[in-house]
Amino acid sequence: MTEHAATKDRDDGPILWSNALFLSLSPLLAVLLIPIYLWYSGGHWAIWVTTFAMWIFTGLGITLGYHRLFAHRSYKASPVWRFLALVAGAATLQNSAIVWAAAHRRHHRHTDHHGDPYDATRGFWWAHMKWIFHENDQADDLSNVPDLKADPLVVWQQKWYWVIALVMNLVLPLGLGLLIGRPWGMLLIAGLGRIVFTHQATFSINSLCHILGTQPWSESNTSKDSWICAYLTFGEGYHNFHHSFPADYRNGLRWYHFDPAKWAIWTGQRLGLTSNLKRTEAPIQWRKKLERQTEKYETSLSQFVPEVGADWNHRIESARQLVDEHLNRWSKNLREYQRACRNKEVTAALLRSLREARRAWRRAWKEFLALERALPLPA
Ligand SMILES: [Zn+2]
Ligand SMILES: [Zn+2]
Repeated sequence: MTEHAATKDRDDGPILWSNALFLSLSPLLAVLLIPIYLWYSGGHWAIWVTTFAMWIFTGLGITLGYHRLFAHRSYKASPVWRFLALVAGAATLQNSAIVWAAAHRRHHRHTDHHGDPYDATRGFWWAHMKWIFHENDQADDLSNVPDLKADPLVVWQQKWYWVIALVMNLVLPLGLGLLIGRPWGMLLIAGLGRIVFTHQATFSINSLCHILGTQPWSESNTSKDSWICAYLTFGEGYHNFHHSFPADYRNGLRWYHFDPAKWAIWTGQRLGLTSNLKRTEAPIQWRKKLERQTEKYETSLSQFVPEVGADWNHRIESARQLVDEHLNRWSKNLREYQRACRNKEVTAALLRSLREARRAWRRAWKEFLALERALPLPA
């Protein structure tokens, strides 16, 4: 064990046996009991439909509710939307929205460091679920969620969390199961199986999404972008983008990136249920890309002999400054255009100047990128 790991282990609180036993035994019971049940009793279409519907509902409760609405405030939603998100979130047995969001805000504030509850540098299992097995002296610190503590609907969910969880996970599946004469099947598959599946998907955001994939936006922490993780985590797989722009309501930036929460929030806006969807403007995204590419060049240059390095350093810095200037100009033009759109004052000259600024920026960016191919091999 490294000294780093040993120091951190000493900080771990005592084991919370209720969490440790439930999170360890529930997957084992699901894997064992569901096949036995299906072997002896067979499936039923109503069980599969209910399981699928509850999986979508509760999965979205975490991604578009707990995560993007309550933890990040990346959009606004109507009371009906917020109520459903809170009910769905409680049904996943991942604690109340207030506690979940407080831990998640700490994760973003202290990513990979002390204070990050699911610090991925401590290894896969810690980030995945072992962090929940231990008492955490910060778990009750809700000082970073004053907005949620002032929200009556969120406070209501905190107060009635266990009642909602029991109704959704026991009363509802049992009632539906009794209707079709399959109470055990419904409890095991739509209840236990779905809880385990949603747990593992959410836990993978903290573990796999900090291990598997690429870092196109930033290397300042362990977060990664991966389409495989996007499918495994119900659309939260573009985690490097998310850590770079946490206020954005999207996780998968491109329209084809698998991100059901993004699609649902966007559809909600069309239906008048969500509003104020926060998007990271293109020039801000490109500025991040510029920083990332500059870091790549700096890493390459550090391997050069000083004379060659100094010459290339100058060329790269000049090209970077040019991109920076054009990016500023394009950004300014874009703001003017947006203002003109709001006031319905868009002119042909404004459009022309916006197009020109964008073309000039793209040219400068291409030249900056071309330096990577022209770089000599390190000494
Ligand atoms: Zn993360
Ligand atoms: Zn987040």
